Amino acid sequence: MPLLACPLCEKSISKRAHACPNCGEPDPFRYHSRKSWIERIVWTMVIAFIVIYGWLELLPMFIEAIR
Ligand SMILES: [Zn+2]
Repeated sequence: MPLLACPLCEKSISKRAHACPNCGEPDPFRYHSRKSWIERIVWTMVIAFIVIYGWLELLPMFIEAIR
């Protein structure tokens, strides 16, 4: 039976457990994938912000340079 660490209490529990027997977290591994999904969106927004900010900062400089 494969054992994985609970994302909340980090105790080894069965991968197929529907709830953590130690802390009682329901569906602990869907919680884990939901967290990484949110992390991915946050990173996408951070990268998009840097690209848009860089574009708005560099574009006027580029227009000045070629004029
Ligand atoms: Zn737990």
